[in-house]
Amino acid sequence: MITEFKEFDFDLKSLKDFHGHLGPYLVAGARMGVIANEELSKNKLEKYCIVRCDTTPMSCLIDGIQFVSGCTYGTRRIVATSEGIPEAIFIHKEKEIRIKLKKPFQFKGEGLDELEDYVKEFMKSPIHDVFEIQSNFPLRKYYKKKLTE
Ligand SMILES: [Zn+2]
Repeated sequence: MITEFKEFDFDLKSLKDFHGHLGPYLVAGARMGVIANEELSKNKLEKYCIVRCDTTPMSCLIDGIQFVSGCTYGTRRIVATSEGIPEAIFIHKEKEIRIKLKKPFQFKGEGLDELEDYVKEFMKSPIHDVFEIQSNFPLRKYYKKKLTE
């Protein structure tokens, strides 16, 4: 069942194995990574990423991003700040895209099955329902809002 999400460009089971459990922030980070790959570059050694949070559970974003985008600690292509904001900024040459979760996850369930159901619901949510996306260049696939800062 978690393998049904093939419309996304990453393997959910491998992601879960990498991170140790399947959580919403992990999957959100992976989805952010897919957007960055599509809009900036699929080359794993060309992008940089700044993640604006560094404590769990929000920081699980970082593993999803690393897994999908190639912006990893090992390649020195990712840094995390302690701002506590569920946002990632991806940079490729002159291009910059900011992807922010519109609201933090409010999972109140208990069991792992419930958590996986919650994650599945998130996986089905359209990009624009869950993320606010800004960029300093016209996006090809996802959004139109210009970066104003
Ligand atoms: Zn996690």
